[in-house]
Amino acid sequence: MKVEMKARRQFASDNNAGICPEAFAALTEANRGHVSGYGNDPWTEKAANLLRDLFETQCEVFFVFNGTAANSLSLASLCQSYHSILCHESAHVETAECGAPEFFANGTKVLLVPGANGKIDPAGIEGMVKKRTDIHYPKPRAISLTQATEAGTIYSLDELETVTDTAKELGLRVHMDGARFANAVASMGVTPKEITWQAGVDVLCFGGTKNGMAVGEAVVFFNSELAREFDYRCKQAGQLASKMRFLSASWVGMLQDGAWLRHAAHANKMARRLDAGLRGLPQIKIAFPCQTNAVFAEMPQAIIEALWQRGWMFYTHVSPGQCRLMCSWDTTEADVDEFAADVRSLATKV
Ligand SMILES: *Cc1c(COP(=O)(O)O)cnc(C)c1O
Repeated sequence: MKVEMKARRQFASDNNAGICPEAFAALTEANRGHVSGYGNDPWTEKAANLLRDLFETQCEVFFVFNGTAANSLSLASLCQSYHSILCHESAHVETAECGAPEFFANGTKVLLVPGANGKIDPAGIEGMVKKRTDIHYPKPRAISLTQATEAGTIYSLDELETVTDTAKELGLRVHMDGARFANAVASMGVTPKEITWQAGVDVLCFGGTKNGMAVGEAVVFFNSELAREFDYRCKQAGQLASKMRFLSASWVGMLQDGAWLRHAAHANKMARRLDAGLRGLPQIKIAFPCQTNAVFAEMPQAIIEALWQRGWMFYTHVSPGQCRLMCSWDTTEADVDEFAADVRSLATKV
C-alpha cells in the first residue's frame, strides 16, 4: 500500500511534523510482548514517575489523547457547572475547542479577559471577578493561562506570579494550558517547577504531541485533592486508553534523556532564525516578539498567495490578518532559509 504524501516540511503547525526518534524508539520497545491495559503497565508507571522527577514533586499524573480533552477535563475538575473560568480572549480553550470545556464541565461558562501579546492583563482579572457578586453571575472559580501563549509569547516568571497571586487572592484555581510548555521552559531557562507549582499552578496540561510525540498529553495535578476521581472523568469522556502504554511509552522516550527539552529548544531556535530572516522587509510586519517556536507575520495578500502557489503551507485563520508560522522538532535551517528567501524575493517584487 502506498499513500502519497508531500514530504516537504511546512510551517503550518507543529502537529504537521512526524514522530521524533526518541518517542518512536520507545513505542517500538513498548510493542514487545503483552502487558495489562488501561494504564496498569510498567510504561505508564515509569512515565508518571519521570514526570514526578521532572517536576520535583509528588504530582498526580494522567495521560489522555489530546489537548482539548486535557484542558476540558482538568478545567471541569476545578469547577462546578455554575462556576466560570477566566481565560485570554485568544485562548485555545475559547477559540479552538468547540465548546468542549463548557460541555465537559456541564455548562461552566468561559469569561474572556483581554491583554497584549496573547497574555491576560492582570488588571482585567479583578474587574471580571468583582464586576458582579450577585447570584445571577456565573461565579468565577478558575483561571486558565496558556504557556507558551497562542501568540508564541511567554509569561515571564514575574508576569506569571502576578497573574497567579491575583487569582489566589480572588479565590481562583489556576489551570495552565501547556500544549507548548516545553517551548516555554526551553525559552525561559527555568526548571519546570518554577513556572508551575512553585508559581501557584494547580494543574498543568503538558503537551506531548506538538513536542514530537505521535499522540498524547499529560494532565499533571499539583494539587492532589483536585485530582480525586479524575480517572473516572477520563473514562467517561472516552479518554482512558485501552492500550495505554502507547500513550505513556512516548513520554518515557521523551523524558528519560531530555529529548523533550532539546526538541523544544531546537524548534525555538528555528523560529528565531525565521524571525530574523523576515525582518527588515518593508511589506512584512512581525506581530509579536518571537519567544518560542512561532512567528506571526503580517504580509500583503499577494505575497501570501504567491507563497501558497510555491507550495508553502501556513495558516492565516488562527490570528486574523496574520500568517502563523510554526517550527517543529524537525524543522531545519535549510527549510527556514528557503522559506525566508521566497518571502524576500516576493517582497521586493510586490
Ligand atoms: C494544539 C493546542 C492544544 C491541543 O489541541 P488538540 O488539537 O486538542 O490536541 C491546546 N492548547 C493550545 C494552546 C494548542 O496550541
